[in-house]
Amino acid sequence: MRIPLDKIGEEPFAWRQQLTLNAESLERSELLGLGEILWQGSVERQEGGFRLDGRLEYEQTVSCSRCLEPLVVPVESQVRLRLMRAVPVAAEGEIELTEADLETVYVEGEEIDTLQLVREQLQLNIPMRSLCSESCQGLCPTCGANRNKETCGCDQVEVDPRWEALKNLRDG
Ligand SMILES: [Zn+2]
Ligand SMILES: [Zn+2]
Repeated sequence: MRIPLDKIGEEPFAWRQQLTLNAESLERSELLGLGEILWQGSVERQEGGFRLDGRLEYEQTVSCSRCLEPLVVPVESQVRLRLMRAVPVAAEGEIELTEADLETVYVEGEEIDTLQLVREQLQLNIPMRSLCSESCQGLCPTCGANRNKETCGCDQVEVDPRWEALKNLRDG
């Protein structure tokens, strides 16, 4: 979505767009897939610049942090930004920033391409940790079996990690 900043007058510029992005392009191994993304919002003039209010809705497929099974998670997120024209360094002191709670993005040129904003937001929305269920049993550390689905029969006695390290040294 390209927003023509120079064409925004009294009326806000509004958009509504469906887009698809390749999950792999975000280069996060825990993100397995992305559904169609609904990206909508508006930009309006505000003293000294513009204000962007956007909303993203989509589904993401992430892997469970314990058992690695895929799970589909609906996501809704708000994007609120203040857009400012990039200004020469000399003029910097003349700008009074208001609404310091909004993230400010400096724009060069007459239009802004929101794809980069969307990509950043998608990155932020990937959880550090996902669980298919709080009681997920994870994978067997010995044979890799999914312990939610099968009982592999491996010895599940907890091994002292220090002992395990020594053992690895000796075996290696
Ligand atoms: Zn799981
Ligand atoms: Zn096992």
